[in-house]
Amino acid sequence: MKPLNYVLLRQEIRVGPDLGAWLAQGGGEGLEQALADPAALIPLIEAADLRGLGGSGFPAHRKWRFMAESGPAAAKYLIVNGNEDEPGTFKDRLLLDETPHQVIEGALIAAAAVGATQVLFYINPAITQGLRHIRKAVKQWQESGLLERYGRPIELKVHPSSGHYIGGEETAAISSVEGGFPFPKVKPPYPAEKGVHGHPTLINNVETLSNVSHIVRRGAPWFRDLGLGAASGAKLYCLSGDVLRPGVYELPMGTPLAELVYQHGNGLLLDKKLKAVFTGGPSNTILTAKDLDVALDFESVLQRRARLGTGAMIVVSHGTGIVKRVTEYLNFFAASSCGQCPSCKTGTYYAALLLRKIDTGQGSRADLESLQNLCRILPGSGRCHLPDGAIAVLRSSLDQFMPEYEQAIGGRRP
Ligand code: SF4
Repeated sequence: MKPLNYVLLRQEIRVGPDLGAWLAQGGGEGLEQALADPAALIPLIEAADLRGLGGSGFPAHRKWRFMAESGPAAAKYLIVNGNEDEPGTFKDRLLLDETPHQVIEGALIAAAAVGATQVLFYINPAITQGLRHIRKAVKQWQESGLLERYGRPIELKVHPSSGHYIGGEETAAISSVEGGFPFPKVKPPYPAEKGVHGHPTLINNVETLSNVSHIVRRGAPWFRDLGLGAASGAKLYCLSGDVLRPGVYELPMGTPLAELVYQHGNGLLLDKKLKAVFTGGPSNTILTAKDLDVALDFESVLQRRARLGTGAMIVVSHGTGIVKRVTEYLNFFAASSCGQCPSCKTGTYYAALLLRKIDTGQGSRADLESLQNLCRILPGSGRCHLPDGAIAVLRSSLDQFMPEYEQAIGGRRP
């Protein structure tokens, strides 16, 4: 087994907002190499197979290339997305809090690759210490003189997000940094074509960018070899729920689910049996005990018709009700809907209402049928993926845990 915490969470680089300590650990070398040959960066990131680690798994080099090819512009923006707000996901706050300089250096390298002139650190204000640390760390870079090596002006700013879950969606983040409410917009145009104030914009997650300086310093083969099987790199998995040792675990991409739960998480509370895992957060197909052998990488999880998402794994043991959990998640999605799309606003509200009814013993078979109908009509009906995620977890629970729903309605008919 490869050791824990060996790239992004290595003890010696968890120096907080101390630029001197970061530079003493080899920080700054990646940026130096990147500035010597910016044209080599996108092919390097492609060879490393770095993915979007905020949940999409989209190849980072493709986003970077769209942006680099978006042509000359008076301004180009890079948004570092630290809006992390989904239940069960708590990795970016650790990076912002403990290693803000590796986030900043990765962002500066990405800016060099795509020609960005402004870097905006878009951080959820609920991450209070992380926000404080990134502010302090940005000031240190600005005062250090290191940015002069760019040979052109580059501006760094910290922009607290509105704190809404939906504010993490790319076009919502753009609306927010423009000063508006984080309303998602219809795509196209994509941010690389028309982003902040109409300028080309690249949006990358905190964890994605944290890997970049290490890839530049150590090379693409080193990064690829960190992963297991066909997977590349490492991943911060957020383990929570009914486990003995919850936390953030940095492990090779492709680590089996069973290893994460039983070896690193030390198994389930009271030695109970595993019933389910809400995978990639609460907006996904639910994995069960028969999926414990799945490798936790984007492709392998997709083969089980689920998604790795942010790498959040919320474990549920036998004895914990699935209906109650799904009800809590639908309440969350209904409260998070921005209200622009009537189907999303009313659909998630109605689904949450029906689930509350069922969970409190007031539901009927007609309510179950209404939930099934919502599963058919809601997906794809909104501007963004919020209703799709809400329905994914609802549908998966109905497909796999119908006996629990049946028990909750107690055979009641309308
Ligand atoms: Fe807002 Fe929902 Fe429409 Fe997304 S789908 S834009 S959250 S109303």
